[in-house]
Parts: sequence; C-alpha cells; structure tokens
Amino acid sequence: MALALLSPPGEWGADIVIGSSQRFGIPMGFGGPHAAFFATKEEYKRSLPGRIIGVTIDSAGNYALRMALQTREQHIRRDKATSNICTAQALLAIMASMYAIYHGPKGIKQIAERIHGLAVFLSKSLEALGFHQENKFFFDTLKLNAGELIESIHTEALKNEVNLNYEGSTVGITLDETTSPEDVKTIIRFFAKVMGKNIDDLDLEGIKTRILGKIPSHLERKSDYLSHPVFNSYHSEHEMLRYIKSLEAKDLSLCHSMIALGSCTMKLNSTTEMVPVTWAEFSKIHPFAPSDQVEGYMQIFDELNKWLSEITGFAAMSLQPNSGAQGEYAGLMVIRAYHLDRGDSHRNIALIPSSAHGTNPASAAMAGMKIVIVKCDERGNIDVADLKAKAEEHAADLSCLMVTYPSTHGVFEESIIEICEIIHKNGGQVYMDGANMNAQVGLTSPATIGADVCHLNLHKTFCIPHGGGGPGMGPIGVAKHLVPFLPGHAVVEMSREKSISAVSSAPWGSASILIISHAYIAMMGGEGLTNATKFAILNANYIKTRLENSYPILYSGTQGRCAHEMILDCRAFKAYGIEVTDLAKRLMDYGFHAPTVSFPVAGTVMIEPTESEPKHELDRFCDAMIAIRSEIEDVENGKLDALNNPLKNAPHTAAAVTANEWTHPYSRQTAAFPLPYVSTFKFWPSVGRVNDTHGDRTLVCSCPPVESYAEEVL
Ligand SMILES: *Cc1c(COP(=O)(O)O)cnc(C)c1O
Repeated sequence: MALALLSPPGEWGADIVIGSSQRFGIPMGFGGPHAAFFATKEEYKRSLPGRIIGVTIDSAGNYALRMALQTREQHIRRDKATSNICTAQALLAIMASMYAIYHGPKGIKQIAERIHGLAVFLSKSLEALGFHQENKFFFDTLKLNAGELIESIHTEALKNEVNLNYEGSTVGITLDETTSPEDVKTIIRFFAKVMGKNIDDLDLEGIKTRILGKIPSHLERKSDYLSHPVFNSYHSEHEMLRYIKSLEAKDLSLCHSMIALGSCTMKLNSTTEMVPVTWAEFSKIHPFAPSDQVEGYMQIFDELNKWLSEITGFAAMSLQPNSGAQGEYAGLMVIRAYHLDRGDSHRNIALIPSSAHGTNPASAAMAGMKIVIVKCDERGNIDVADLKAKAEEHAADLSCLMVTYPSTHGVFEESIIEICEIIHKNGGQVYMDGANMNAQVGLTSPATIGADVCHLNLHKTFCIPHGGGGPGMGPIGVAKHLVPFLPGHAVVEMSREKSISAVSSAPWGSASILIISHAYIAMMGGEGLTNATKFAILNANYIKTRLENSYPILYSGTQGRCAHEMILDCRAFKAYGIEVTDLAKRLMDYGFHAPTVSFPVAGTVMIEPTESEPKHELDRFCDAMIAIRSEIEDVENGKLDALNNPLKNAPHTAAAVTANEWTHPYSRQTAAFPLPYVSTFKFWPSVGRVNDTHGDRTLVCSCPPVESYAEEVL
C-alpha cells in the first residue's frame, strides 16, 4: 500500500523483495491466512519458489494461461530442492489481486493518500498536545515516547476499545484503510485526556489545512503501476461481479463433479464449517490482540489441540505451521533440537523412501539434513532390508526417517511397526507424513505405529478447502519427549523450556481457518470421523474393483486392497502413442477434473474419491474411465486414427465442436457428449490442448503495449 506513494524497491536496485499483501483487502483473521509475495529481478525468475502463471497458446492458436515451472518441487532431484513450498496462499493472492482490479491504480493511490493523510493529521495533533512523535518520515505508523504516561495511555485506550502497540515506554500506532476520521479523533481525545487537556482546545481544522505529506520528495513514486487493462476496466460492482463470475465459469470445480486428485483429499467443505470464517468476531482480530480479548479463539485452539492429540495419539500439537510442508520443516527442526539437547549435534541424516512426496526431501534439505534415499520393493512398500542396512550404516549420525503412512502408493505398509523400531534402535526419530490421515482417523494413528512426530494437512483430511493451492494448515503433533521443543513465539507468550523459534510470523498460523477443522470435528464426533475413514477406504476399493479390469492397479496390499487411493498404470498405452496426459485431458470432455498425474510414479494417475462422494458419482466417474479405456483400445486396434482421435484432440471446446468445419474422423457428439449423462450437465473447457513448450518459454504474462491500453480506456 505504501508503494503507491513511495518509489518502489526495484527502482532503487533491490534484487529481491518480499512482503505481505494483507493490506489489499484481506482480513486480519487473528494471524491469517494472508498471502506473502516474493518478487525478484528478471535474472532470478527461474529460481523463484512456487509457480508462475505464464502465457501460451492452445491447439487452435488461441491465447491461454498456463502454470509454468509447475513440475519442480515434486519432480526435481529430491535432495536438490531449493524450496519446499507446495500449498501456498493462492486464494489470498487472488483476493488481493481482485482488490487491485476493483480499485485500480487511481483508487489505490487515493486509499494510500487517505491513510497517510490521517497518519499525518494524527501525528500533528499529538505533537500539538505535547507528545514527541519519533518517526521523522512515515507512511502509516507513528512511534511515541510516552515516558511515565504509558500506563494511563494504556488504560484510556482500553476504555475506548482501542488496542495500540506497547513496547516499554513507547507506543506504536498504525492506521490502515479501515481507520475512520472518527477513530482518529477518539485516539486524539484520550491522548488529550492523559495530558490533562481537552480535544476541543486543539485547532483540528487548522491542523487539517496544514497537512503536508511526510514523504521526502526524492522518495516519492513517479512511475506508473497496475497499467494492465485488467486493473483499469472493472470499477463498478456490476462489472466486477461479472468479471469474477466469468472467471469462475472457466473453472471445473467440486461444484460440478468429483475431483479424484490422489494425495490431495478433495472432500466436501461444508457450508456450516465455512460460514463462521466470515464473522467479524473471527476475521477482524489482530494476531497480537491481548489474550483476555480472544477467549473464544483460545477455547477453539484448546479443543482442537485436544482433539487432534487424541486423533494422532500424541501428547501435544503446535498449530503454527501454515502447510503440510511447513509442518514437515517444523517437525524436523523439533527433532533436530531434541538431538542437539542430548548432545548429539552430529545426527543429521534423514532416511527418505524413494516414494516420498517431494516436500519430504525438500523440507529435510531446508532443515540442514543430509538425505539418504531408501528403496521400495516391487509391491511399492519400503524395502525393509535396504532400510535396515542404511539405518545401521548411518546409525552414528542418524537423525530420522520420514515416512508416509499409508504410503504415497496408497497402501498400508504392513511392516510399518518394524520400520519404526529399526529407526529407534539406531538412535533415530520417526517423522510420519500425516497428509494421508483420511485413511487413518479413528482406525489407527501415528502414535500406534510408533512415530514420534507427524503433521496433519487440515486442508486435506480436516475440510479446509484447497483454494486452488492454498491456504492450508499443517499443525504438528509430537510424542511426550518432544513436547518441550514445540515452536515458540517472540511476541506472544507460548514458548516452552526448549522451544525452537517460530516457524511462521503469526503464533497460531492461519488462525481463522482453524475454525473450519474445529467445526468439522465437532459436528462429526468420534463415531462420524471413524465412519468417514471407513467410507473413504470403501469408496476407493469400490473404484478399484470397477476399474481393475480396464486398468492395471499398480500396487495393492496382501489382501488385494488399497487404502484411500490407488494408482492406475497407464504406461502400456504409450506403445500406441497414448500418453497419460491424453487420458487426463479427455476426462474434461466427460466433465471430470483430471486425477493426479504422474505422481508418485511417472505415466500413472492416482485416484482418491474420499468419503464425500455418493455411489452414483463414483459410478459416473468409473463409466467415464471405462469409456476412455475403450477409446484407447480403438486406437490400439486401428478403429481410431493414431493421431486424429478424441484423446489426442481433447479437450474439445464449444468453439471447436460448433465450428462450420469439422475435420476429425469421429463425430462431434463423440467429441463433446461421449456418454448420455454428459448431455444433462455439460461443462465446456474454455481452451483446447495447451502448448507446454511454448508456455515454458513465456514465463511471465507481459502487459499489452501502452497504446492498446490507451485505446481501451478511451
Ligand atoms: C499434500 C502432501 C504434502 C504437502 O502438503 P502441503 O500442505 O501441500 O505443503 C506432503 N506429503 C504428502 C503425502 C501430501 O499428500
């Protein structure tokens, strides 16, 4: 917000800039979720963590947007990772961008000027009362040395329901867009009272007319910003609403059909769980609000801690980490602190199975550990002999094992207890990746199998929606001996004897979305949660049984069953030119979002239905998969052309299907309405097959030339 008035860091030669976009219309939420941003010079763009939306073309040559750099964290050589970010704050970034779209550069400048103007007015008024305001230059924040008056200021502020930032004898006051002139007068009024004066004795009108900005002219912003047409087109509510709806309409979401995204647990996010997030009582609270003003939140945290401890079988939780990967990092730092505390500073080897989620080795690398990969056997289980050999070889320096249970292959490892024992025998700790708790809750637990730490993805099993890539929450649970090391905080009192430092700036992470998981657990109860797990496993095995004659299922347990998800092997189709991507894209024509593609095994899809889907929806999905399999067979036996077929040309847009010209050897109906159910509710993909190579060359969406923009606004 300040940069609407100040010259931006890029112009004064900064290489990397980080910040928070909370000021762009995002509620405080007692700490989050908020989107941070990370910007760099052109030369570092390929080293940025996360994804970049770039431009490409589709099969008809139309403009299309596509995620570039998308295959890094989970596909690069695991120990080479430079970031462990998977779930981020996509939804909040979108909200902040919508704020910028609605207000545009002029509107944002006005908002910034108003904030700054009020801050200058407040500063001058307080100075007129005799206070010393220490910030010579400022945008929105004042710092007053209150000396002996600090106590009475605090008392008066509380009486007026105002929280300020007190440190020793200084008071910090920050104003933002939501601060009204009335609020500012309230502050002046009680500061006057503390000085034994009266606000009416001040010449406020005079101060108002004497307001001059506190920004030195050489730091004033001279350059334009937000010049792209999108920031200059939708400034009325009607236009804005239609713009947002037009984007929403391009999105195939859980509103349309099941999203069987293996390892991501796309389950129902019920309205009752979601609504309280919008309540002011939860959303309008500062992360450092005094503890006696946040008893409701504290009760929620206490109950959630208790429930999650019971679910995991652990002694305590930390609600601080903002994602699964951040939980991994926090948990590994706890393990590190435990070893250090015992004088074992050399213990820095993390054993990680080759099947692990990409964030595991990336988090271990960030925690300063050395990664040793453990093999898997042909059933997809950890190769216990290899694990034992490596644990013994590195016994002197073993820090931990990171193990996902049920495995990323969708199977309950039957030797899991033995695996944990081997690690403990060799002096290591067991970190269980609990992202897949949807197959465990109520039936087993990390503590039962012998793990010492785990994270939970509340945005998977515990119903926080994924928001297109975040926000999420990844609290960690620990066994008793690790409790003293759980993350502390520098501002809010929560540190234990041996706490590691905070892993996120807000003490309880993205606090406001914890209430979603709290509501889920409260409404389900123990029996409901256990039933959910059973249905998740039942649904997965139903799909497995319906599809196993059409697709080889890569791994299953000794009983021939999967856990909550399964991997379909599509590698054999390559022999007749069909790639797993073709199948994934073709599913769009059938009204389904693609399952997880090529993770954790290249050339496969991973399917996870969750307990939320009724049998009718599972059948619709299976029908689509079976129909696609018979299309693949037609390519194989030559009934369909090897290149010009519905799989290679998928997805089919409305424009392509209704064009005057149709050059394919299959019908338009086969293209767009391949099964009867599709005609009752057709989702039209908005672009055809996107060009990946073209997209990777055009990382950043460049703004149209200034002239075209000038024409548009005129
Ligand atoms: C989703 C997932 C993660 C990462 O969680 P994020 O919240 O995306 O960081 C880690 N491990 C497994 C097995 C997962 O499925």
